[in-house]
Amino acid sequence: MSLIKKQYLKQTDLEVFECLENEKLRQSDSLEMIASENFVSASVLEATASTLTNKYAEGYPARRYYNGCEYADVVENLALERAKKLLGANFVNVQPHSGSQANMAALFACLEPGDTILGMDLNHGGHLSHGSRVNFSGRYYNVISYGLNAKDHRIDFEQLARLAKEHRPKLIIAGFSAYPRTLDFEKFRQIADNVNAILLADIAHILGLVVCGEHPNPIGIADIITSTTHKTLRGPRGGLIYTNNEGYAKRINSQIFPGIQGGPLMHIIAAKAVAFKEALEPSFHSYISKVKENAVALADGFMKNDLDIVSGGTDNHIVLLDLQKVSLTGKVLADALQDVGITANKNAVPFDPLPPRITSGVRFGSAALSTRGLGKSEFSQIANLVSSLVKNIGDENIAKKIRAEVSTITEAYPMDRFFLL
Ligand SMILES: *Cc1c(COP(=O)(O)O)cnc(C)c1O
Repeated sequence: MSLIKKQYLKQTDLEVFECLENEKLRQSDSLEMIASENFVSASVLEATASTLTNKYAEGYPARRYYNGCEYADVVENLALERAKKLLGANFVNVQPHSGSQANMAALFACLEPGDTILGMDLNHGGHLSHGSRVNFSGRYYNVISYGLNAKDHRIDFEQLARLAKEHRPKLIIAGFSAYPRTLDFEKFRQIADNVNAILLADIAHILGLVVCGEHPNPIGIADIITSTTHKTLRGPRGGLIYTNNEGYAKRINSQIFPGIQGGPLMHIIAAKAVAFKEALEPSFHSYISKVKENAVALADGFMKNDLDIVSGGTDNHIVLLDLQKVSLTGKVLADALQDVGITANKNAVPFDPLPPRITSGVRFGSAALSTRGLGKSEFSQIANLVSSLVKNIGDENIAKKIRAEVSTITEAYPMDRFFLL
């Protein structure tokens, strides 16, 4: 069966077929360290490639606008039940096409254009959808940003409380894309309560950790919780919105559809259901503890090589290298890493003097390579390789040696089981 599938595309569209083949090679021959990426199981991949992509199912189970939704309903109900179990929540919407759509629906459910929101500064680790000027969130709302302490690179709760008092935001966002530390949702709650603000927790990066009790669960603390499904949770690309408040639940459903989306991606919802089942299994817990262990090995490896990392360590899957001391930019290092087969992204560090296209940092994540099977010793080895590249930037011979060591690692951890034929 699967062989035949592959041959269809090869025969009808060689250009796209070759891209997909090359992408498989790229994923297996390099070390994927982009913190927001992961490798889904072949089962999740199979569901994303399924016939449910053909189905229009506007609305919600048993309340659809189209006929023929009997299997779409079963699949969405499975996804809903499993998603609720993941966090112990009363309500979830599994239809957001992405994390950004989840945030848009959550904000639309609570706010009017022009209302004030308080979110983490993009330069300090926040996400575009938390109020960046180039994003809808920055265009529709009056945005106030909080950040980190210069001293220890932890969230500056004094500043956060002060800004909340001064600006009386209608909603506060607790969440990040590049912060290596645990979020104290209770502290956010207190500050929100003091000014009567709604608390939105965006756990896009850490959902996998939260599910396994490796990070505090915001359910029952935050009013609304948004997430992606494709980062540490290891599902298909997509989003989720949780709440335990019935009023918000109704508004969230109608903001997703018909508010900002049309028909749900039913094949993706099927894949979400599959990923949620996997995340409820004990093996996912051992995976997530490896994700954390491996991130610590990477962080320790950098520090042993005398490199600076933001906040001096990590509590999650993220390690943020600060290159200011070694006079390198994030862009130069991220490009040099790609040349030796290590994929990571340039990233602003707190108080970064350089613009977003250049930056002074590189962000690493342990989620994808932990899925691939790498352990602490390989993560320490990678820290040494990255450090050697940092100290010998531009040296072709050293780069060649590093590329060879990368290949030794990638060959030891084949990727075949993650690909459909
Ligand atoms: C990745 C991320 C998102 C957005 O996810 P997309 O699916 O790329 O839209 C939203 N919030 C946070 C905190 C993220 O890290």
